[in-house]
Amino acid sequence: MAVERDEIRIRGLRIFAHHGVFEEETRLGQTFVVNATLFTDTRVGGLTDSLEDTISYADVCQFLTEYLQANTWKLLEAAVEHACRALLLRYPLVRAVELELEKPSAPIPLPFDSVSVCVRRGWTRAFVALGSNLGDKRGYLDGAVQAMEADENIRVRKVSTYLETKPYGGVEQDDFLNAAVEIETLYTPRELLDTLHKIEQAAKRERLVHWGPRTLDLDILFYEDLIQDSGDLTIPHPDLQNRDFVLKPMAELAPGFLHPVLRKTMRQLLEDLSCG
Ligand code: ADP
Ligand code: MG
Repeated sequence: MAVERDEIRIRGLRIFAHHGVFEEETRLGQTFVVNATLFTDTRVGGLTDSLEDTISYADVCQFLTEYLQANTWKLLEAAVEHACRALLLRYPLVRAVELELEKPSAPIPLPFDSVSVCVRRGWTRAFVALGSNLGDKRGYLDGAVQAMEADENIRVRKVSTYLETKPYGGVEQDDFLNAAVEIETLYTPRELLDTLHKIEQAAKRERLVHWGPRTLDLDILFYEDLIQDSGDLTIPHPDLQNRDFVLKPMAELAPGFLHPVLRKTMRQLLEDLSCG
């Protein structure tokens, strides 16, 4: 979760709410204690000394209190999951949040101080490749960008130029239109892949021939600097260094972005491919 290393910390915020597995807990309620760390960049506010340039911790405390009182969850896990998401959607300057929810009066018939669940959630920078070579290609790419924008778990940061390219993989077919987008997402890699598949399916993509014609193909290129190979999901995308229709848009969006495995920037990889 990259560069935002500054932290705004809230400790011991007490909130009377009704979360719990037992009926008495949801009926009677109890006091919860919140510890929150907001990961952000405080540099600007630090220099201007103006509340408008930072996140008001009073506002965050108020928001968390109202949010945790307006909803009821059985599990602390569910309460922190939803509260993190709500904070990240409400405060655009917050890059990530660590939220701990303590239950000092949890129904445990043994001597104890407190139980709590603590999670960290945040926005991750990722890159997605778009391709189409059937029907209204430009319309399919535009539609995919709009579908990503319409999802509140995705913020589209940059869209590359659309590039016309010759087909890849030796199948006789129409030219492609390719592009890449830079996004920030609250999704895990798996959730992002599922979401992209749904967008592909909505564009009625038919998987008839491998590397064959398709209305829309969406691939995850990078998910920050994550390296993952889990059978049906490989990140970084394993073939991107061999595809100029991926490297050109990537070099346009983020020329200095470093491939975490090959340890080369997008600019260098594109140069290597043009020379090779
Ligand atoms: P391709 O993109 O190689 O032309 P498909 O779009 O049909 O072919 O992808 C087939 C499968 O590739 C997907 O169902 C998905 O599970 C898997 N896959 C593995 N890694 C990735 C990735 N980084 N992005 C998208 N799909 C991936
Ligand atoms: Mg694909």
